[in-house]
Amino acid sequence: AAPIPAELGVSIFSRMAALAVETGAISLGQGFPDGIGPEAMLRTAQEAIAAGDNQYAPAIGIKPLREVISAQRADRYGTEYDPDSQVVVTAGATEAITAAVMAAAGPGDDVVMFEPYYDSYAAATRLAGANRVAVPLIADDAGFAFDLNRLAEAFTDRTRVLILNTPHNPTGKVFTTDELVAIARLCEERDVVIVSDEVYEYLTFDDVRHVPVAAVAPERTISVSGIGKSFSATGWRIGWACGPTDLIARVASVKQFLSFTTGTPFQLGAVTALRDCLDWVERLRLSLQDRRDLLTTTLTDAGITVYPTSGSYFLQVDSRSFGTDDGMALCLDIPHKAGVVAVPSVAFFDHPDAGRHLVRLAFCKETETLAEAADRLVRYRD
Ligand code: GLN
Repeated sequence: AAPIPAELGVSIFSRMAALAVETGAISLGQGFPDGIGPEAMLRTAQEAIAAGDNQYAPAIGIKPLREVISAQRADRYGTEYDPDSQVVVTAGATEAITAAVMAAAGPGDDVVMFEPYYDSYAAATRLAGANRVAVPLIADDAGFAFDLNRLAEAFTDRTRVLILNTPHNPTGKVFTTDELVAIARLCEERDVVIVSDEVYEYLTFDDVRHVPVAAVAPERTISVSGIGKSFSATGWRIGWACGPTDLIARVASVKQFLSFTTGTPFQLGAVTALRDCLDWVERLRLSLQDRRDLLTTTLTDAGITVYPTSGSYFLQVDSRSFGTDDGMALCLDIPHKAGVVAVPSVAFFDHPDAGRHLVRLAFCKETETLAEAADRLVRYRD
């Protein structure tokens, strides 16, 4: 049999999660929260299971969920989607991204993405038979930025899709409206579809707010999100894609043959979450912000370089603060010697020189766990 392509190999998250189990280290690796989701959401799913709502949902998702997703996008961002033809429920945002890329790109086409990129973008591109073209986000004191000329040069006649992720995993960058307008203009000139992964849409900090690129390029954007990150239910696998009718019809047609549909009781729980639990999300956001600050302050006070993060579960530290420019080597050492697991960001780069020294820490863990992990990293460095 042919070897498994690199893009479809065991993910860095699974590798680092296994290392955490093997060493008993505190895991600031795989990004999932310690906390439990809103009570009302959990109860709805439990009651649905007990009541027998356990059969297939419609392939595009149950209507009440499509309606509440449409209302959420309209209320929060002013973007309008018809729940019957412009919204599809998926098995997590990951499936939405895969289906969107497969719907909009094929063999020989190019898919452009910023690096570091979330690993599923590379896998989805590979599954579509398309080529990946990565444009670096460059770290500086203010965070992460890109060169618009370099992005423009990455576009060719074969470019069909740009994958955008904001708030961005793993850097915590939240793209500004000006950046989104510039990106949208390029995609318009080249007639490129934008697949926009917005799973951290609620989780932005300080006075930074998430802006969906669909607000500036509605006619060419497939907006993807889900409940996993916002409502601490990453295992429920409830995501969605919203966009223009023609694009969503194509996404839905691919999606039917990936998973057909996703858990009916969890879809019902998601309706409660989006309709009744937004106060809960705001408390989560504020508490995550405090935890970001705790981790940042402890490490920065010890002289470790932390890049500013405005959203998501993650921040980046510079491995050179630990005496090595090899973030991968550091991540393979600290589980054993510091009792902490992190993720080497170089795994998300095609141009490793741009990210060799970057290490991702997840701060979506309990305060005591984070404080202990931060102390351990400082002791290891000393
Ligand atoms: N999205 C999470 C992260 O970035 C989990 C990824 C995964 O395990 N596939 O860590």
